[in-house]
Amino acid sequence: MCNHCLTRRSLFSVGMGALAVTASVSAVRAQPVRSADTPDAALARLVEGNARYVAGKLNERDFSAGRAARAQGQAPFAAILGCADSRVAPELAFDQAPGELFVVRVAGNFVTPDGLGSLEYGAAVLGTKVIMVLGHTSCGAVNATVEALQKGNTLPVILLALSAP
Ligand SMILES: [Zn+2]
Repeated sequence: MCNHCLTRRSLFSVGMGALAVTASVSAVRAQPVRSADTPDAALARLVEGNARYVAGKLNERDFSAGRAARAQGQAPFAAILGCADSRVAPELAFDQAPGELFVVRVAGNFVTPDGLGSLEYGAAVLGTKVIMVLGHTSCGAVNATVEALQKGNTLPVILLALSAP
């Protein structure tokens, strides 16, 4: 064995020890609490958050608050299927804190098999109470697809791959 290997093993041992300590300390920390327990309550939270966003009256957030609890688990109340567009961030559009939304994003906000699996995981395992499909105006992916179809052009390779069954 070379000195380099010994050093790597030593570091690995230290790392595992730290992991075990972290796990035992975290066992006493609180788990996140779901902020809406019914589909109606979840939808109401989304609508209220969007109203704050539209009015420019977003809640002030301390993004470090609750970090330790979120490291132990998640309890999002809603799932969002949204576009990957950089201008449409669901957490901002619905004024929600980290851990509140389970978000699946793809250009054009349509469901792929991978996205569907993620949404099923969100509902079945994480307990999301509602799934919202979030569209938006001026979607570049949708516009490019419509334009290509109207002109009889082929879709860009990436969009074609997304639309394939
Ligand atoms: Zn879009």
